[in-house]
Amino acid sequence: MNALAIDPKNHIQNHREYHTEHHAPGGGFRNFPEPETSNPSPLKAAGWMLGRAFRSLQGFDPTPVQRIDPAELAGPAPRSPRTYWLGHASTLVRVGDQIILTDPVFSKIIGPTRFAGVRRLTENPIEIAELPRVDSVLISHDHYDHLDADAILELERRFRPWWFVPLGVAPILEQLGIARVCEMDWWQFLEHGDVTFHCLPARHFSGRGLFDRNQTLWASWGITPSREISRGRGSIFFAGDTGYGPHFKQIRSTLGAIDLAILPIGAYLPRWFMQTVHVDPAEAIESFLDLEAGRMLAIHWGTFDLADEAVHEPPRELQRMIESRGLDAGRFDVLPVGGSSPA
Ligand code: ZN
Ligand code: ZN
Repeated sequence: MNALAIDPKNHIQNHREYHTEHHAPGGGFRNFPEPETSNPSPLKAAGWMLGRAFRSLQGFDPTPVQRIDPAELAGPAPRSPRTYWLGHASTLVRVGDQIILTDPVFSKIIGPTRFAGVRRLTENPIEIAELPRVDSVLISHDHYDHLDADAILELERRFRPWWFVPLGVAPILEQLGIARVCEMDWWQFLEHGDVTFHCLPARHFSGRGLFDRNQTLWASWGITPSREISRGRGSIFFAGDTGYGPHFKQIRSTLGAIDLAILPIGAYLPRWFMQTVHVDPAEAIESFLDLEAGRMLAIHWGTFDLADEAVHEPPRELQRMIESRGLDAGRFDVLPVGGSSPA
């Protein structure tokens, strides 16, 4: 029997760090061990959002896009894992004979309605219809820039993959008619074919409407290939959305040194609003060092205009930080949309 046909839900295991302090006593979830340090007043936050709604996007050159050749993805499995950036937090990971997507967003406008949505600034480097197949999808949390219902429906219709989601997110997918959903808690893992998926902490929040804040869990994900196909190499960490915190060091000590850390660098201004939920480029580097990662792939920039920094400022700031810390720039991948990194 094909290993991917086995229902993974019955095979979830707990890492020794497993705990439930991030389950809020009254229901829903909270960050742990970080306290909710800055919870800006709803009025101040609403004022910032209203200001953004009336801000017009300054003219800028579009983020470079490199088309992904579908034939390249349909060819034989690469000898070591390779990760393609599809824009924003969407990546395509080829590991063993699986094709795995993270936070697949392909829509031109994201948000609760087209009217209240945010427009995509780049072309997709490949369309869903051009993908040879998708075996597994990892979702980090329920925000619209990470959970795109139209893309999910299209992926399900074409490929019927396994969907791995943090606690509380399964009902959102099941309402869309998705069949094979596996919910996981932080510090849980399961073997799926020749890779292991690890659901790991992030410092963030959740919600798709006005009244569902933190009712579903947010997470980061680890992908570790089995020893047979990797000889212990090729581990990948996908951070989702996260502020800086001690979880990166905890993840390092659980998974071992990471080969490729996929880390967000955008949507970090203003700091009074973003600091506890999104790392800035300096903190992304700090996280990369905490993970003792071999390479970093910079994501969550250049695709949607979600915050106050200019659309192309995050990679420039990252470059300045790499130089000021005297780090080897060759270990940091700032790619065109559609570019790929080895793990
Ligand atoms: Zn988010
Ligand atoms: Zn995001």
